[in-house]
Amino acid sequence: MIIAVPQETKNNELRVAITPAGVSEFVAHGHQVVIQAGAGIGSGIEDAHYLEAGARIAADAKTTWAAGDMVLKVKEPTESEYGLLRADQVLFTYLHLAASPECADAILAAGTTAIAYETVRRGAALPLLAPMSEVAGRLAAQIGAFTLQEPSGGSGILMGGVPGTRPAKVVVIGGGVAGENAAAASAGLGADVTIFDVNLARLKEIDTDYRGRIKTLASSKHAIAREVADADLVIGSVLIPGAAAPKLVTLDMVEKMRPGSVLVDIAIDQGGCFEGSHPTTHAAPTYKVHDALYYCVTNMPGAVPQTSTAALTNATLPYALRIADKGWRQAMAEDAGLANGLMAHAGSVVFAPVADALGREH
Ligand code: NAD
Repeated sequence: MIIAVPQETKNNELRVAITPAGVSEFVAHGHQVVIQAGAGIGSGIEDAHYLEAGARIAADAKTTWAAGDMVLKVKEPTESEYGLLRADQVLFTYLHLAASPECADAILAAGTTAIAYETVRRGAALPLLAPMSEVAGRLAAQIGAFTLQEPSGGSGILMGGVPGTRPAKVVVIGGGVAGENAAAASAGLGADVTIFDVNLARLKEIDTDYRGRIKTLASSKHAIAREVADADLVIGSVLIPGAAAPKLVTLDMVEKMRPGSVLVDIAIDQGGCFEGSHPTTHAAPTYKVHDALYYCVTNMPGAVPQTSTAALTNATLPYALRIADKGWRQAMAEDAGLANGLMAHAGSVVFAPVADALGREH
């Protein structure tokens, strides 16, 4: 099979869908890989690295797409790519089609077989979403620490303090993949960390794993209000699958916080879990709410494309290899979790919740 990897087209998207290590795996399995010139530059990968691993370099997007039996991408195609979609091609990427009806129309009109990273399952887990939640969680601690510094507009407290001073108090709301990573990174910097979840089994796991270094609390409005009141940094990382995030921190709570406190809303891509959250960009990431600072960037992993590209491709490569080796039908017949990623085929939306969201039959 020929695997084509174009340069990403979304604004500020510096990730790329394959690393040189991935190229050499495909080549070892007897496949060919075609990469658009310059596609890896934003992630620190030069064309020469891909060539050394056995890829061919194509001059532009058109020739790259034209070469592929399967197109591997990071984000959904944008307008300039709609005309390049084909029926005899598999597209494997983050799609989020319910949020991109124009892209859905283009994929359906072309008859492309589109497989979405975000709905591939392994048991109850979403293995192709988790790496980006890991990145966002760890980044939230790093960004929170930086924003708390006085020149950033923060209250001027050091996460770990120094001997004889109090550390920063960090409250993490939502103890899933992003929340656990945010809490662990904050604890690693020496902060005093408390994590909330509604899932007591999850809190038990965190308690066992971190042996009291991270405090756990059952999530309730009352307990959140009490803990947020004297927090220096609040990190929001809840997820209710398929639903908008609940507003767990209210403006009343924020008003009572110390001036210069920081709130990082990782769940902003699901609408945000703080009252007053609205999406921001890496160019202008924070804004003031009462005397606190909100950070609400919707594509946090974009700030660290080297890590994000490596983490994403580590997770996607085994699936992409199986699709290339066996063909998508056989690979899905052998793995119901991968089959859950099938979004569209031959002009129909296959994935029922997305079909419903788009008002299409399935
Ligand atoms: P996850 O499913 O692993 O974890 C979510 C956790 O929230 C679960 O443990 C769940 O029990 C908990 N939860 C649900 N309701 C709660 C409540 N009322 N109080 C406390 N906890 C509650 O999800 P995840 O992979 O960690 O993702 C978390 C959020 O981060 C998602 O919205 C995801 O889309 C988002 N995310 C954003 C970025 C970004 O760039 N901003 C990047 C990656 C992920």
